[in-house]
Amino acid sequence: MRERSSVVERDGSYTWFERAKSVIAGGVNSPARSFRAVGGDPPVVMDRGEGAWLIDVDGNRYIDYLAAFGPLILGHSHPQVVEAVRQAMAEGPLLGTPHPSEIRLAEELVRAVQGLEQVRLTTTGTEAVMSAVRLARAFTGRTKVIKFEGAYHGHSDAMLVKAGSGASTIGTADSLGVPQGVTQDVVSLPYNDIERLEEVLSRIGDQVACVLTEPIVGNMGIVNPAPGYLQKMADLTHKAGALLIFDEVITAFRFHYGSAGALLGVIPDLYAMGKIIGGGLPAGAYGGRRDIMDYVAPLGGMFQAGTLAGNPLSSVAGLATLQVLREENPYPRMDRLANDLATALLHLAARHGLVASVNRAGSGFTLFFGTETVQNYTQAQQADAGQFAAFHRLMLNEGVYLAPSRYEAWFVSAQHGPDEIERTVQAADRAMAHIM
Ligand code: PLP
Repeated sequence: MRERSSVVERDGSYTWFERAKSVIAGGVNSPARSFRAVGGDPPVVMDRGEGAWLIDVDGNRYIDYLAAFGPLILGHSHPQVVEAVRQAMAEGPLLGTPHPSEIRLAEELVRAVQGLEQVRLTTTGTEAVMSAVRLARAFTGRTKVIKFEGAYHGHSDAMLVKAGSGASTIGTADSLGVPQGVTQDVVSLPYNDIERLEEVLSRIGDQVACVLTEPIVGNMGIVNPAPGYLQKMADLTHKAGALLIFDEVITAFRFHYGSAGALLGVIPDLYAMGKIIGGGLPAGAYGGRRDIMDYVAPLGGMFQAGTLAGNPLSSVAGLATLQVLREENPYPRMDRLANDLATALLHLAARHGLVASVNRAGSGFTLFFGTETVQNYTQAQQADAGQFAAFHRLMLNEGVYLAPSRYEAWFVSAQHGPDEIERTVQAADRAMAHIM
């Protein structure tokens, strides 16, 4: 590894980003990649990934906790995934017809995810959620959707009401360009507040098509559901005659081989998935009860489609990723490493006189500065933006790549080991010494 001076050379990144700014809106193809919320420096332009590491265009190496916002649970360029994609590429990356690998992926998802009787593959998580919501409306004949403040469910119009992740990071939780006609049917409630949900459902329950949530929230930072919260949510939703949708775009296969819903003992009517199931290539999926999936075209009248949906490359990358996860079961090891790291960060913060808290779920966690508890979006917003920005910049110079937002998670991959964790702890120790 290259010796680090106090100022890391990133001339190549700056040059590339100048070029990017002139031809790509804001210089980035997704706002969550910009560094606007962490001081506004140009983002680092990465050349490649290797296992648990990112390498930038100047040759600087970073321990990667971004995991490309979640998909890369096996780290970068896992040999089995690369080989599967190479072979599929040679056989034709897109056929526009049914083909065996998309069917195998669907079979594997149905086998692994409890309550997933049928599935439809899409190209992104955004489409998966958007389609699941449309399907819930088609099935129930109702229009209203209940979601939770600070949750991110992709960038379809209806989901950009009090949205989390990149939307809240950049200050556009309620996006311009979303018509009132769309937002009037979306009700956003505080997460982990069952009384509020009960009260709203008792008033408008007969108009509600679905209650949509991540079973473990990943987009206001990691926020776990309070004990019993999801089961009560399911009971209230069903009592109102509405459908429960779990957005498991981040959580499916992140914590164990299956859905987070199954892990927590609550099975929704419909799931939306993405990220890990595409092994780093574009993929999403929605599905659930067969009687509901019967409404999807061509059998039913709910239309949803996709030129690239279920494409061979994403299908084999997803299948290869799932095969490694199933056969090697890296989950206990990843959880232990994430726990070791999160615990060490909390100790360091205390030693440096910083108020901090950690929310962890398995191999993902969020470190919040300046707040002792985060159970909903209001509390997440109270986390100290200035301290996080300073920490982000210092860690970057130490060779540790964190998501450039205080509302995102650190993800430990199957390629991280004790050495990466130890280096990260030492880096955090030096970084925290400089945070006021
Ligand atoms: N749902 C959740 C929970 C997500 O975290 C995301 C993306 O971060 C999405 C949906 C949208 O997925 P995609 O970016 O693949 O469209």
